[in-house]
Parts: sequence; structure tokens; C-alpha cells
Amino acid sequence: MRILALTLDLDDTLWPVLPALERADHAVDAWLQQHHPDVARAWPVPAMRELRAKVAVDRPDLAHDFSTQRQLTLEHAFASCGIASAPVDTLWEIYFAARNSVELYPDSLAALARLNARWPIASLTNGNADLERVGIHKHFDHHVSARNTGAAKPDARIFLAAAELLGVAPENILHIGDDAQLDVVGAREAGMRIAWINRHRLPWPANLGDAPDLDLPDMTALAHWLETRHPTA
Ligand SMILES: [Mg+2]
Repeated sequence: MRILALTLDLDDTLWPVLPALERADHAVDAWLQQHHPDVARAWPVPAMRELRAKVAVDRPDLAHDFSTQRQLTLEHAFASCGIASAPVDTLWEIYFAARNSVELYPDSLAALARLNARWPIASLTNGNADLERVGIHKHFDHHVSARNTGAAKPDARIFLAAAELLGVAPENILHIGDDAQLDVVGAREAGMRIAWINRHRLPWPANLGDAPDLDLPDMTALAHWLETRHPTA
């Protein structure tokens, strides 16, 4: 089966996401300490994270929309301190700038350029990374997010939305991602081929069915596999 297009997860596939989320939470906290010390005292970083987790539980209708979850969290934190209108836009910008200051894995950029030279690529993410801010948008042809699609991985609908944008049947698409459940199981159920980017060389979770055919340590290995399997004429 020929691979005619690629869909590519972002967080923890092209860069480690936790350091960026950590920096973003602390950037928001630093601004609160300076401008709203009462709110900062009432809602230090761990408490703000718990609040956000509670918002996520209370609002399952927003499971695909981390951005709105975060904005509701800020509104609640400010309201609990007697401040009716939270500076959501200012704080969102601070958060979003830090969240997109990611440090790519050393193999990501060169592999991405090699892949996009030969295959159309759609980003496919449950997160809210902004590829223009990250600075790698020129290597992507389409962008598919849970927020824009209204469905989050592993739901087949987000994979099928990407296939439609790419104009390629799911069985001719290779999905590339790090998460066993969200990426591998999700793409498989949508009828796509799968490359598991397994940077930590984890064993395949036995409860998730058959292991993926492609279990690769990084994006360089993926580019090599694809180019070897589909040599240019
Ligand atoms: Mg991921």
C-alpha cells in the first residue's frame, strides 16, 4: 500500500511538551504576583492546576478545547477573589507565548523537512500549539486540531477530518505520533497506517491490542524508513 500523505502529532512527538507547559504556568504566575498579588496568593501554580483539572471534569463538553478550559479557569480564580472581570486576554497571551516556546527534539526539524519535501503533511493535535509561533508552519500543508474539529483523538472523526483535508483515503495515510492510545489506537480505528514514535522505548501496552508495525525511536528513523520504502523514481 502506497503512502500518499502523512498526519503528524505535535506534543511529545516533535518536542517535549511538559517543559513548555511548566514555563507557561510559571509565566502566568509571575504576572499575577506582580499585578494581582491576591489572586497569586490564593491560586499558586499547583492550586491553579487543580482548578483547571476540576474545570475539565465539570465541563466534559470542552474535552476537545483546552484553550477555553484555561480561560474559564482564570475567570473562576479571579471571581473567587472578588474580581468580576479577569484579564483573560492578557493572561492568555502570556500563557500562549510561553506554551509555544518549545524546544524541538534534535531530530525533528531535519526529518520534517525531508518528509515534507515528498509528502503532504497535516498536523493532528489535541493540544493548542501554534505552528507559526513555533516557527515550523512552512513544513505543514494543513492543520487539524481537536478544537477546530470538535472531536479529540482517539475519536476517528479527527483523523477522518485530516484525510478529507488532505484529499487522501485513510489507508494511504501514515499517522505519526507518540501516544499509544490517542495516536496508535485512534489512527488504527480510523483505518490509517501508524508509526509509533516511541522515544523512551516503552513496551507496547498489552491492553491496547496488537502492537503497531512501526515502532521507531525518533523522526530520523521514520524519515529513513519512509524514504527506503518509497524510493524516488
Ligand atoms: Mg503527543
